[in-house]
Amino acid sequence: MHADFILKELRALREAGLYRSLKRVQGEQGPTLMIEGRELLNFCSNNYLGLAGHPALCAAAKEAIDRYGCGSGASRLISGNLELHEQLEEKIAALKGTEAALVFNSGYQANTGLLSCLAGEGDTIFSDALNHASIIDGCRLTRARVVVYPHGDIARLEDELKKTTTGKKLIVTETIFSMDGDEAPLAEIVELAERFGALVMVDEAHATGVAGPNGAGVVAKLGLGERILVQMGTLGKALGSFGAYVAGSKALRELIINRCRTFIFTTSLPPSVLAASIAAIELVRKEPERRLALWHNVRALRDGLKRMGLRLSESQSQIQPVIIGDARRCMALSARLFEKGLFCQGIRPPTVPAGTSRLRVTVMATHSHEHLRQAFKIFAEALNESRD
Ligand code: PMP
Repeated sequence: MHADFILKELRALREAGLYRSLKRVQGEQGPTLMIEGRELLNFCSNNYLGLAGHPALCAAAKEAIDRYGCGSGASRLISGNLELHEQLEEKIAALKGTEAALVFNSGYQANTGLLSCLAGEGDTIFSDALNHASIIDGCRLTRARVVVYPHGDIARLEDELKKTTTGKKLIVTETIFSMDGDEAPLAEIVELAERFGALVMVDEAHATGVAGPNGAGVVAKLGLGERILVQMGTLGKALGSFGAYVAGSKALRELIINRCRTFIFTTSLPPSVLAASIAAIELVRKEPERRLALWHNVRALRDGLKRMGLRLSESQSQIQPVIIGDARRCMALSARLFEKGLFCQGIRPPTVPAGTSRLRVTVMATHSHEHLRQAFKIFAEALNESRD
């Protein structure tokens, strides 16, 4: 069957420079990557610690398949609540220092479902302007009033909290922002929340495994765990596995199990994935040198890009945006890098605001000095050529 609107929509996307297509990756997700038969330097992966192909994770996943099989068979509330789910949840709660944790199938599902358990009609959600799409969609599903405050703007957040006098108030923010790499002013947010009787939910997707003691995240780094209602994070980025978690009180866990549609109505994560996540949390705790190697590379990346004369934004993490502005120019630069042997995907609207298309450069613990040296050479050449 054929429908004209599809072709029309695709044409419009192409004309706006917003058309997207998939790249086929062959083999492992490492500091280098095979794409269409070519080996490229990989500077856009969220596999920050290089754990996705780690032998300990692979062995744990294989062992789990041998013992439990491939699929979990059902949703958690039917017959799909495996002992591995609960073991993983105990590990996460211990890591985060919370009473309890609950595993979700993905961060996207966690955010789209969680917010509706926390706020509804008559309530107000205060959401940072740069929050991830999954938080934005989660807010939409709640039927609560949503106040989007400018990125990290504490004064505006305070004004908005002051003006809101009825219903529950919930502030939601990422801790390390996915497309900008900067850290939310979390201590100030928590103080405001306490002054105005608001609850706080944080998304630690890009901080989990990377920031804080044992990779527990920014909340743990700042010692704010007791003052935050909900901490969610993902297992598919620095932890090299797949899925997501919510950490908080036992009562919160029970509420989610009872009310959260994206938790209830979906087949649970399979054994291999759960076992890999357990192994990853263990590994991050046992091998702090991985995090140290990452932070070393974060500094090296920033220094190298600055030496090229690039004005860098205030990233405090492994995510370093190089803002290009125009979507077409950004994609042309990304394509040029690709031709020269470096993969760094251009990021355009609607992922980022219009006029802020960027190369979202991410560095990994497993990038060697030589990988970085080659990357700087390629970046410098591509940037020079694109100025011509
Ligand atoms: N939150 C943030 C901040 C993210 O960057 C992402 C993934 N890009 C998600 C949530 C969704 O997580 P997942 O990939 O596990 O669905």
